[in-house]
Amino acid sequence: MSHLSFTQVSLFQLCPRRYSYRYREHLKDTVGAEAVYSREVLHPALASLYLPGVAPDFPELWRHYTDEVGEMAITKPLLSLSLAQSAYTRCAPLAAADLETYDVDGIEQERHFWLAPGGVSFIAKPDVVLRHKETGDLLSVDFKFSTRDPFLPSFHSQFVSQAIACEASAACVITIGIAGSRARNAAENVRAEVSRTLLLISQDQKSEWFAEAALTARIMAQCDAEQVWPKVAPGACMAFGRPCEWLDLCEQGALRVTTIARMQQDVRAKKEAA
Ligand code: SF4
Repeated sequence: MSHLSFTQVSLFQLCPRRYSYRYREHLKDTVGAEAVYSREVLHPALASLYLPGVAPDFPELWRHYTDEVGEMAITKPLLSLSLAQSAYTRCAPLAAADLETYDVDGIEQERHFWLAPGGVSFIAKPDVVLRHKETGDLLSVDFKFSTRDPFLPSFHSQFVSQAIACEASAACVITIGIAGSRARNAAENVRAEVSRTLLLISQDQKSEWFAEAALTARIMAQCDAEQVWPKVAPGACMAFGRPCEWLDLCEQGALRVTTIARMQQDVRAKKEAA
């Protein structure tokens, strides 16, 4: 465990067993069509708005998406090429305004920092990083897409980690949702709904994030050492609005192991002894 990412930490915090299946046993990860669409079509198209003179090759992006999801694309009519083009058009003025104030410092670049000296490093990957033309301050920009309302509190920890990675005091989030009819046969009426939020990230929030992430890394290391990955059933089993992909394998709840409870007891014992 030399690198951690927001996805790893948040999955471990949701359910250590689920994290173990995905990142330790490397069992098949079933990425949904929405995530593939966001990664293969929306993100590259929107990132290109920050590269003046570069236009997205929509047919090619669409081919990447359909190649990966196959027939599932037919069952997801809302995830359309026209939706991506609508998001691109709606985001263009936002990016143009940014480029009047900022230079581009990086597009989809990994940025590493240490959770503890000589310990585990953390990887953050903001979609875009901007540098203020006058002050030189950096700003992370992240696109969030969902067919439901993108719920920013779910990702707040990710935005804080991106601000830490950029040594920034703010993070910018551009959410892309769906406006118009959601009827399955009315995909052509669907258009993107876009909003931009600037989050100020205080030093206290960064310190708190560091403390929590470092604690999570220590608990992970203990799970690793003991090869015990607690289940968080049933609470985590329906997270993200769908059943955990390893529900059958896990037989959820059968072995609710107590590593975390044991660590909490250790902390209590140390406090009492002090
Ligand atoms: S089924 Fe529930 S308890 Fe088991 S790994 Fe998935 S989320 Fe965790």
